[in-house]
Amino acid sequence: ARQIVLAARPKGMPTVETFRTEEITLPDLQNEEVLLKGLYYSVDPYMRGRMSAAKSYAAPYEVDQPIHGGIVAEVVQSTSPEFAKGDVVLGYLPWSTTIIAKAKDLKKIDTNLAPASYYLGILGMPGLTAFFGLMDIGKPKAGETVVVSGAAGAVGILVGQIAKIQGCRVVGIAGGPEKTNMLLNEFGFDAVVDYKATTDLSAAIAHATPNGVDIYFDNVGGEISDAVIQQLNFHARIPLCGQIALYNNTEVALGPRIQPFLLTRSVLMQGFIVGNYASRFKEGIVQLAEWVKTGKLKYTETIVEGFDQLPAALLGLFSGNNTGKMIVKA
Ligand code: NDP
Repeated sequence: ARQIVLAARPKGMPTVETFRTEEITLPDLQNEEVLLKGLYYSVDPYMRGRMSAAKSYAAPYEVDQPIHGGIVAEVVQSTSPEFAKGDVVLGYLPWSTTIIAKAKDLKKIDTNLAPASYYLGILGMPGLTAFFGLMDIGKPKAGETVVVSGAAGAVGILVGQIAKIQGCRVVGIAGGPEKTNMLLNEFGFDAVVDYKATTDLSAAIAHATPNGVDIYFDNVGGEISDAVIQQLNFHARIPLCGQIALYNNTEVALGPRIQPFLLTRSVLMQGFIVGNYASRFKEGIVQLAEWVKTGKLKYTETIVEGFDQLPAALLGLFSGNNTGKMIVKA
């Protein structure tokens, strides 16, 4: 099998030298183990955090050990009665072409309901992030204005559509004309600000939100958030989901930037980790699956071909190479 390990902890933006590909020989299967062939590999922004040794909610990856992530795989051989050859499963697994996993760490997925890769996106971690962050922290009400940054990505594209289902007016922020047109024409966004095409972000966001902003679902942070926060309404809510614009910074930015707006407008800003909702995942998946089935939620993916493209695909998240969920197909 071929596996990809963390070769060195990156400083700033990772490069292809951050990773190394190795040939390995797998041991024999033990009891209650499953031999898997990787089909679809998820690359996610949180993986950047795990490459650093800093303490966080998820343990750091170890140098010289394989990167781990969400993987959809096919069962090749099994010593567990729960899995048979040909089953398609989801697991949090090492980046390897062939994998030995414990049966208890795998979940069978229903490929009749949705394409297998959707379990890494709309019916998986990013879907649950969008659903619980928006519904539980944002608490959208019909007629409110919702702004989402990172709008054309895995989480953002769902936040916008779920907010539409709730009767809100939805404004996305994304990079480039293709993403902008897609959100407007295919995903029902009411307005989109192309942050790469505007020289005055504050003015562009103000123009797109004539009634102010009731919910700001923040995937990005930095200057985009500084601009949105100026438009917040009284009692606005900010589900603080991600800060991808800052993940490769070598220094933490400090200073009073947004606090006066939050204070005078009685704004609630709450950070969250999707894992906080683990006890309610089932409820989230049932709702997301129903919206997928009834056509209320649409999805799109960028599928990069080839196991060896995993590092490049992961780095591509930081330059916006993806539309919807970034996936690597082995
Ligand atoms: P995306 O699919 O949205 O991919 C990342 C996108 O971020 C890119 O396509 C790019 O889009 C945008 N981006 C990258 N760099 C910048 C930048 N400097 N400024 C502005 N935009 C940038 O990823 P996900 O949907 O998986 O994740 C979105 C966010 O949600 C991330 O911050 C992630 O860490 C967070 N997250 C948090 C979770 C939680 O539990 N709290 C769980 C899952 C995700 P563009 O072309 O528009 O710039």
